[in-house]
Amino acid sequence: MKTIGLLGGMSWESTVGYYRTINEGVKNALGGLHSAKIVMYSVDFEPIEQRQHAGDWKGTAAILAEAAQSIESAGADFLLICTNTMHKVAPEIEKSINIPLLHIADATAEVLVHEGIETVGLLGTAFTMEQDFYKGRLSENYGLNVLVPNEDDRQIVHKTIYQELCLGKIQADSKAEYLRIIESLADQGAEAVILGCTEIGMLVSQGDTRVTLLDTTAIHAEKAVEYAI
Ligand code: GLU
Repeated sequence: MKTIGLLGGMSWESTVGYYRTINEGVKNALGGLHSAKIVMYSVDFEPIEQRQHAGDWKGTAAILAEAAQSIESAGADFLLICTNTMHKVAPEIEKSINIPLLHIADATAEVLVHEGIETVGLLGTAFTMEQDFYKGRLSENYGLNVLVPNEDDRQIVHKTIYQELCLGKIQADSKAEYLRIIESLADQGAEAVILGCTEIGMLVSQGDTRVTLLDTTAIHAEKAVEYAI
């Protein structure tokens, strides 16, 4: 079994989900008392979030590259960045290490392609919904047609992530808003909706809606299990 490297803490609330899903996956696959071999570096999110919103992506890349190098030195065979947004600096992180990176958008796109889905909705931070590092990767590398909410709804989705979910706050009114936005993406032709932020699965789940949801935390963690064993 390979050792999984987790670059987490963004936020720690969602990294808990990775830890659980990966260990459950290894236990299901190997049985008995088997559990995952994991090296985790959990960052302090506050200085990273401040740099994101100030547009200092270089600063975030420097912090994360150093953390990734520690993970490699501690014996990880491959790396997961446990957030969609910070894949914006995935190329810089990748360049700083010698172990492979399992990219969250690739893991998600592979599921979509396998399911034969062509048009998909995307929820995440404004960075993820608006910039090309994520949306562009899905459309250019996998031929997917990616729909995002309108500007007002993108604001709602973004604010809920930073002001509630990353702080572990789960609110019924925000859940209702997310479900309305998911429904509206489906009305516009989305065959499924990507929960493209690792905390969204804490707020909405498949049982809440008729629209097919793709939880990137679960998909990424399951991919790690597959790769490790
Ligand atoms: N965990 C979130 C994501 O998947 C947002 C927090 C962050 O900015 O990294 O995008």
